[in-house]
Amino acid sequence: MFYYYDWTYILVLIGAALSLWASGNVNSAIAKYRKVGSQSGMTASEAARRILRENGIFDVTVKQIGQGASDYYNPSTKELCLLAPNYNSTSIASIGIAAHECGHAIQDATDYAPLTIQRYIAPVCAFGSRTGFYVAIAGLIFGYQPLTNLGIILFSLGVFITILLLPIEFDASSRALKILQSKQILTGEELSGARKVLTAAGLTYVAAAASSILSLLRLVLLSRSRND
Ligand SMILES: [Zn+2]
Repeated sequence: MFYYYDWTYILVLIGAALSLWASGNVNSAIAKYRKVGSQSGMTASEAARRILRENGIFDVTVKQIGQGASDYYNPSTKELCLLAPNYNSTSIASIGIAAHECGHAIQDATDYAPLTIQRYIAPVCAFGSRTGFYVAIAGLIFGYQPLTNLGIILFSLGVFITILLLPIEFDASSRALKILQSKQILTGEELSGARKVLTAAGLTYVAAAASSILSLLRLVLLSRSRND
């Protein structure tokens, strides 16, 4: 238990605080702009279907999913899933989110490199992020450096994917906003509301990446102090 409460634990707390702030921030942006209806009167699912069609994407299904999870695009099943509160909503928040998921579908259709890389390495990185920390801590407890190093390498794989998600997420949002503007699905003030929602959503990925980098830094510091 010692390793959970040494001074470097402050890095974990900073990461947790960042993530908490970012998720509060995106939730309040979504709550605010979900109350603002778009002038077009188009629902988020209609907007998604139109954006896909106009980008020549005909093999993606727009589906409604229950509450609890989050909206997502699945490149393997070619499904663009919108939460129930977004699916039939005409709000600028929901349309912005739907357009962002279309951004991912367009990345997939155009073989956007970071997304392709992410798909291939995701399972390995997920394994690394699940096990790396415990392997490293086991190495520290038993004073066996090669095990600590292995844990740090595994954990780094998990950190890498959180960093790789940043270009993917920001690119999807930037595609979304360009399309919403050029197709006049949202205009003027509406567009700036959607931008605020998508920027706040992007910051949750920045917080997640920062927090995993801080955890990695902690493991490295612990491993160094052990060696001194
Ligand atoms: Zn996304």
